[in-house]
Amino acid sequence: MTVKAERKSAAGWRLENSYARLPEVLHTRAAPVPVARPVMALFNEKLAVELGLDPGALAGESGAEIFAGNRLPDGAKPIAQAYAGHQFGHFTNLGDGRAVLLGEQITPGGARADVQLKGAGQTPYSRRGDGRAALGPMLREYVMSEAMHALGIPTTRSLAVATTGEQIVREKLLPGAVLTRIASSHIRVGTFEYAAALGDRALLESLVDYTLHRHYPDFLEAENKALALLAGVVERQAKLVAQWAGVGFVHGVMNTDNMALSGETIDYGPCAFLDAYDPATVFSSIDRTGRYAFGNQPRIAHWNLARLAEALLLALHVDQARAVGMAEEALSCFPERFEYFYRGMLRAKLGLCGEEEGDFALAQEFLEWMQASGADYSKSFTDLTSSVGELAGRLPVGAPALPPWQAKWKARLGRQPSGRAEVIALMRSANPVVIPRNHRVEEALAAAESGDFSVIHRLLKVLARPFDELPENEAYRTAPMAGGEPYRTFCGT
Ligand code: AMP
Ligand code: MG
Repeated sequence: MTVKAERKSAAGWRLENSYARLPEVLHTRAAPVPVARPVMALFNEKLAVELGLDPGALAGESGAEIFAGNRLPDGAKPIAQAYAGHQFGHFTNLGDGRAVLLGEQITPGGARADVQLKGAGQTPYSRRGDGRAALGPMLREYVMSEAMHALGIPTTRSLAVATTGEQIVREKLLPGAVLTRIASSHIRVGTFEYAAALGDRALLESLVDYTLHRHYPDFLEAENKALALLAGVVERQAKLVAQWAGVGFVHGVMNTDNMALSGETIDYGPCAFLDAYDPATVFSSIDRTGRYAFGNQPRIAHWNLARLAEALLLALHVDQARAVGMAEEALSCFPERFEYFYRGMLRAKLGLCGEEEGDFALAQEFLEWMQASGADYSKSFTDLTSSVGELAGRLPVGAPALPPWQAKWKARLGRQPSGRAEVIALMRSANPVVIPRNHRVEEALAAAESGDFSVIHRLLKVLARPFDELPENEAYRTAPMAGGEPYRTFCGT
């Protein structure tokens, strides 16, 4: 990538447009469509600073104009990106139907971050959609993505939500909003599927090259770049999905267009976090078969990676039979790599340093107990953490049915050289005391929709420090009362 002469505006914009220089079939010029009355609803000052932007210059009206799409920041060259994707298993041509990429902000640290407006109006890929987004789902993406970041899990970020002063038509009229999404890129499995469907090897190769530059620069010298890219994505996705499992995250729509090659969590639609532990948990109202259930996520990630591998075939080898062999070999690493990260994550959650033969069985037994008893996933682990700090032999709160398991766990802790403080530190780092619980998120969105943003601000503050037991997060640690209706999320449109 060639670095253009530096441009820096008063607000700190330093935008480049490397994606817009890729072959034209991959994108179309698409300016954001101005809205009636831009008002800033949420603004992430800390993230603005990390990006090299001046929060003072952007927090007010001029920021709202930019983040609603009414005014372009210096250096922006807005485009909609073309992509395809398998949605619930079926191939479709998609593209940014309601998002525009303004450009890539070069951060003070030299990183390149996509600045995208989601809900910015129609683009050439909108089909029959209005190109708009409702306030509720955009606030939801803001909360969930920032919570995920604080949990230490790779994710796109949220810089701002601006309301538009317009109503949008869904099942009922809803207030419109635009989310400014920051991502290390928006290159998706579906981007490669789109390029592959055109059958153009040179195009595919330039996309491989570009993706390596942005996300896997160490592989640029690889003998087979497409193979190196595939292996790199397999590794990052295996880790990502294990990290999701560690905090009970259900993505909800793991279509191939919602899987990023960077390894970041992307496209927060009907996602939610587990309360009670059950691998069959599905939150999305449109996921009728449970395709994207909590426990299915590793299998689906593997399936999506197979679509990526297929899309890369032309770039893998001129001899397509050999290309298939290479793809299969790279893909076959996924289950093993996922297990590696997943088991390591479970060991940390149980405070197990080092590795013993029976560790995974021990963890499994605890998970099975949770499932059978309907215990809360996050709370069960934080209760275990507290029990380490209490006198040896005392039962964890909420686990009265567990004495035999607990004895085994304590014995296992006793066999490792680490002291109690070390075990507690490890468990605290792996077991968040607060997650964005559905009832808390809904409460915050409902208040914001009726004009009261104090609840969402409080929630965001609490979610920014998920691992610390603080007086201000005490009320956010508890699970909702049992016996309520199962939680349902609706597609984020
Ligand atoms: P999503 O469910 O947000 O991942 O979107 C799936 C596809 O539908 C993407 O190609 C979006 O750009 C497109 N899409 C979603 N909502 C709209 C809308 N209101 N107008 C136009 N396109 C949309
Ligand atoms: Mg999407």
